[in-house]
Amino acid sequence: MSRDDEAGRTERGADQGTSEPTPDLTRERARTERRDLDKERGEPLAAAGLRRASRSLRPRARPVGDWSSPPWILVTNDDGIESRGLLALKQALDPIGRTVVVAPETNQSAVGHTKTLMRPLRVRERRLADGTLAWSVDGSPTDAVSLAFLGFFDHGFDLVASGINYGANLGDDITYSGTVSAAMEAVINGCPAFAISQEYYEHPDFGLAAAAARLVARNILEHGLARGELINVNVPAVRPEECEGIEVTRLGRRVYQDELVQRLDPRGIPYYWIGGPPPSGLAVPGTDFHAVVNRRIAVTPIHLDLTGRRLLRRLKTWNWSLELAANAAQDTAGGGSS
Ligand code: MN
Repeated sequence: MSRDDEAGRTERGADQGTSEPTPDLTRERARTERRDLDKERGEPLAAAGLRRASRSLRPRARPVGDWSSPPWILVTNDDGIESRGLLALKQALDPIGRTVVVAPETNQSAVGHTKTLMRPLRVRERRLADGTLAWSVDGSPTDAVSLAFLGFFDHGFDLVASGINYGANLGDDITYSGTVSAAMEAVINGCPAFAISQEYYEHPDFGLAAAAARLVARNILEHGLARGELINVNVPAVRPEECEGIEVTRLGRRVYQDELVQRLDPRGIPYYWIGGPPPSGLAVPGTDFHAVVNRRIAVTPIHLDLTGRRLLRRLKTWNWSLELAANAAQDTAGGGSS
């Protein structure tokens, strides 16, 4: 058995760590389905020969003690360069590798995966509160990560860490989250990544989140991630001694309570502001929301392949004949455009 096979097996074992023991037959089928899925996506298969030639992210993975030189770790966020969570994340990862901080100049929460193309980007050298040299970008989290991968530094990166965001990023939140988008940008650039968020807490000290970040970083460097994969971490608003451990979860469903607020500006013209109470969620066991509600740190695997597989199968049963499209146009236009 090759080392790659072993790595694959370990990873699968870890995936199943929190679920019920599976009969071998089911496990075998899951493995076959996974291979089919990889093949469909055009991803390298788990075979040793293919793996070596592939751009899979797993081969770089090895125990942290075995790295011949410390890994380069890019630290970023969406709350901005002055966020205390950013400094906490940088300091948490300092013992593991060589950290480099590049972050947005201002708070970019909920900007999603936006990329700045229509204006230049200004980069400024900064000093974090502990004196560390860092760089701020007057753009989005994605811009900060892009800068690092498009040659701003004279070296690559082995891991990208985004956070520690002030406020949870659970379930549907990840579609808005600048924190998670920074990790997505890293993955698009072929670098493993994770995002980490701290549930709102009156006096966050980020101690628990820092410990979680260190553990997640160590695990990713040791086991690796495949192409398209990233990890989203959410830390409950509890003191470390109150935390009930870590749970590997799936994404839950958020329940937003947004309200449109209308006010008048000083010149009497109405303006609108999206407000309302913070979002809730469906506390379904196995989801990130359920874990955090129950004082556990949620570790959620994310994949960038957003294909709707069930819908894909349904769409194939619909009528896709172009003649039908022509007829339908005639029907709705009442027999022609004259
Ligand atoms: Mn934020």
